[in-house]
This record gives sequence, structure tokens and C-alpha cells, in this order.
Amino acid sequence: MSEKIYVLIDHGEGEIRTPSLESLALGQRMAEEAGFSLHALILGNEIGPLAERLGKQKVDSVLLVEDQKLANYDPDVYCRALSEILTEDQPYLFLMGHIYQNIDLAPKLAAAINRGLVTDCIGYRKEGDDFVFVRQMFRNKLNADVQFRSEHPWIVTLQTGATSVDDLKEGSGQVVERSLDLSAVELRRKQLEAFEATQGKVDLSQAELIVAVGRGIKKAENLKIIEELAEALGAEIAASRPVVDSEWLTRDRQIGSSGQTVSPRLYLACGISGAIQHIVGMKNAQCIVAINTDPNAPIFNIATYGIVGDLFEIVPALTKKLKE
Ligand SMILES: Cc1cc2nc3c(=O)[nH]c(=O)nc-3n(C[C@H](O)[C@H](O)[C@H](O)COP(=O)(O)OP(=O)(O)OC[C@H]3O[C@@H](n4cnc5c(N)ncnc54)[C@H](O)[C@@H]3O)c2cc1C
Repeated sequence: MSEKIYVLIDHGEGEIRTPSLESLALGQRMAEEAGFSLHALILGNEIGPLAERLGKQKVDSVLLVEDQKLANYDPDVYCRALSEILTEDQPYLFLMGHIYQNIDLAPKLAAAINRGLVTDCIGYRKEGDDFVFVRQMFRNKLNADVQFRSEHPWIVTLQTGATSVDDLKEGSGQVVERSLDLSAVELRRKQLEAFEATQGKVDLSQAELIVAVGRGIKKAENLKIIEELAEALGAEIAASRPVVDSEWLTRDRQIGSSGQTVSPRLYLACGISGAIQHIVGMKNAQCIVAINTDPNAPIFNIATYGIVGDLFEIVPALTKKLKE
């Protein structure tokens, strides 16, 4: 087994970030298919317990790089550390989650090592000995197959929700400590206080069932029927942006390009038109049920089941049925 796949593991506040686990799940599948080895790569300071946790997944090894300069994300230091590792180890592929940090880091890294980068992939296909990566274009209207022309390592970022952490296979991988000399890298940035883009504490990214409400609900007082349905289902409540802008629900419940990205088993969209900025946040739900009076509402283009009708009739009827 000569070829290797490396997966970058991002973390924050002592937790491994879900997009990295999704990348690891994809890495597992690719490694298995191609007969490659798989290695999780984690950078930071005092992150031994996270590396141990990764070692319980199906990986050939966990590469642990610890340095005080890696305690917080700094593009210069992270880029130098990763450039060194990738240049020395020459893996076939380097996978990263498509999160803000890596949107910043990936192009810098690709330029530093002069290798190709395919961003925001939603999947891959194996064609002969090669991998072809799939990414969406033109506001997700088109799926494009992309092939690398550069030498390896190829760098790929993976869209959040493109794979599921449920696919992650357990196993055992040895933690291998790797030391790098980062003393020459100058810290040009000073980290200020971190803040959450969405205020509040609701993390919908882990929700299995979501009832989402849009402007079709018309006013805050009408939300009661949505709350009753969510309660009967045991679901979280989410919203489109106009509902949040009107302050009918808090900002941390907004789904979409300026809100959260979710991938639940069920996404029940009530009175949501399906604007692209909303769809990017929920299109990876396993099952999308849309209720809308307008048969031409774009949400029906991605819905698994579409109900053309008045939510004020359908939602209470669904709640009643569920309670029965
Ligand atoms: C930079 C930018 C970022 C944005 N970010 C986001 C984001 O993160 N999330 C987001 O959601 N939006 C976002 N938007 C806004 C987005 O463009 C849409 O305006 C928004 O998603 C529309 O919300 P909606 O579907 O609830 O409302 P509308 O588009 O007004 O749709 C309401 C729907 O309800 C239906 N309806 C009406 N009455 C009923 C009824 N009685 N029963 C059933 N259906 C009914 C209507 O047919 C209609 O389809 C962003 C926009 C911009 C420019």
C-alpha cells in the first residue's frame, strides 16, 4: 500500500469539528475503494485527547503536530506546517472540510506547494485509477466533474453535509507525534476575542428532525401551530431569514447562506419559497417535505414530497395525526 490519503482535522473549544469527521468518513470510503492508507492530521497545542479520540476511528494513523504557535489558527503558521508535511510525505490526496478557516487556508496552501485545489466538493467518482471530483456550479444548477492536472498531493475541500458522520467507521489507529520547527515563522496576527457569527446557543447542525417556517406563516402569533407540530414530532424549529429579520424567531434558528447549514433526516418546510440562499443551508437533508400554496415555488424542485396547499390547514392536521 503506497498511496496515502490525509484528512485535516479541525477543532475548537476542545471538540473535533463535525465537517472534519465528515471528511474523515469520505476519506475512509475513498481509501477503502482505492486500497490506499488513511491518515488523520491534527494540528494544535495540548490536543493529545483529541488525537486519542481520532485513533478510535478506522484510520491507519493519527499524525499529531503540537506547537504553541499552532494553538490558534494562524494562516502563516498553519500553511508552513502543512506545506512541510505534504511536501515531505507526498500523500495522494489532502482532504479538508469546507469551513471558513479552510476557505482561507486551502488556496494559500495550494499556492505555497504549487498543487491543484478543488473546493466545496459534494462527492467523487472513481474512474479507472483516477478520482473525479464533483462540485456544483451556477448557483447549484449544474454538477461539474473536475479532474486534477497537477501533481499530487491534490487538495480538496468538502462541502458540509456532503457526507454523514453516521458513515464513520470505528477502528484503531496509532497516534504518531510529529515535530516541526516553526520557530522561523513570524506571527503577524494577534487573535482577538472569538465570537459566534450566529448569536445564541441553538446548534441545529446535529438535529435529526427539523420543522422550518417561512414568511408564509404571516405573523408571530401563528407560530404556535409550528411549535405544536415540532413538539409532536420531537423536532427542532428553524426558519427562513424573513422570519428571523422580523424577530419572530431568534437568529440562531436561521437556515441558509447567512445562517446555519443542516443535514437532518427530515426537513419539513412550511411556507418557504426555496430561495437559493435558503436552499444552500438545507439541501442535504435526507428527506425534504415542502408545504406551499404556490405549485411553482422553487422549494418543490428539491422536495422529496411536495404538498401544494395551505399550511394553516395542513400543519394542524399533521399534528393531530401525529398525536393520534
Ligand atoms: C445576501 C443574502 C443572504 C441571505 N441569506 C439568507 C439565509 O441565510 N436564509 C434565508 O432563508 N434567506 C436568506 N436570504 C433571503 C432569501 O433571498 C429569501 O428572501 C428568503 O429565503 C425568503 O424567505 P421565505 O421563503 O420565508 O419567504 P418568501 O420568499 O416570501 O416565501 C414565502 C412562501 O410562503 C408561501 N405561502 C404563503 N402563504 C402560505 C400558506 N398559507 N401556506 C403555505 N405556503 C404559503 C408562498 O407561496 C411563498 O412561496 C438572503 C438574501 C440575501 C440577499
